[in-house]
Amino acid sequence: MENLDDIVNEAIILLDSIDDATELEQVKARYLGKHGVLTESLKGLGKLLPENRPAMGSRINQAKSQIEATLKRRREAIQIKKMEAQLTEDALDVTLSGRGASVSGLHPITRTLIRIESLFCSIGFSVASGPEIETDFYNFTALNIPENHPARAMHDTFYVDNGDLLRTHTSPVQIHYMQNNNPPIRLIAPGRVYRCDSDVTHTPMFHQVEGLWIDENANFTALKGVLADFMQHFFEREDLSVRFRPSFFPFTEPSAEMDIGCVMCNGKGCRVCSHTGWLEVLGCGMVHPNVLKHVNIDHEKYIGFAFGMGVERLTMLRYGVNDLRLFFENDLRFLKQFN
Ligand SMILES: [Zn+2]
Repeated sequence: MENLDDIVNEAIILLDSIDDATELEQVKARYLGKHGVLTESLKGLGKLLPENRPAMGSRINQAKSQIEATLKRRREAIQIKKMEAQLTEDALDVTLSGRGASVSGLHPITRTLIRIESLFCSIGFSVASGPEIETDFYNFTALNIPENHPARAMHDTFYVDNGDLLRTHTSPVQIHYMQNNNPPIRLIAPGRVYRCDSDVTHTPMFHQVEGLWIDENANFTALKGVLADFMQHFFEREDLSVRFRPSFFPFTEPSAEMDIGCVMCNGKGCRVCSHTGWLEVLGCGMVHPNVLKHVNIDHEKYIGFAFGMGVERLTMLRYGVNDLRLFFENDLRFLKQFN
């Protein structure tokens, strides 16, 4: 029994060298099992003189707990190692970029609307919306288009039973807004509008963005600056040329059409610009005093300008689309090109 310390030391060195749980249990059996070295030693106690038994028993038990403590430590170490290995193996690389599974995308018209809104919002305009079914007053009368005015014929639309109509432009939103807000006013009104037209270049429903700036000094120079700047940013061409031609709208005076240098041929002349080098993109003008009178804004103190543009037209020019009807046919082969 004098070699008990040797047995313990040998066991500890052996256990510490083991990295496998099964092997660990086998070695445990060799020392602490039914026929293990220490178990046999305990059995041998009976052969000792009675006075030597307690001391020897206590030494053997001490040796047992030393080996058991080592076992426990090794078991834990092996468990932790196993867990770490598993974590490394199952680890997700969160820095790996996604596979980009796209389930849907924005319609090109929606993309253009968002683009127009963000450009105007960046210079302090707010975005307003209003009803698509309007009364005669908001769609025509308040905009200085009295009954029997020829401009009404150009705005032939769909009527509902009580005489209300589907709005022919988003200008009624400006009237609602001016009735409820005091100047200075800076807003754009994007939305769906309706006309009784259906051919290659017209659809019964289309989108418009109209804008309004009412202030004490919102003059024609400001109008030109705002709109030229907008078109240059919209088409991402700093050198985009613009021109204003006199025109007529009942709700503005003076009125103008704005042209931009053709973005397809850079002004050289092509089929899109009818070989003129210019593209008509927008109508605008100084708000007619009669419009301000209808909404009780002091037209001696305030002036302002308004403008309106077709969203489909701008989208066609920006993306080089040559048929308006493509926007409404919902052909995925066409729509997928924008996403
Ligand atoms: Zn052209």
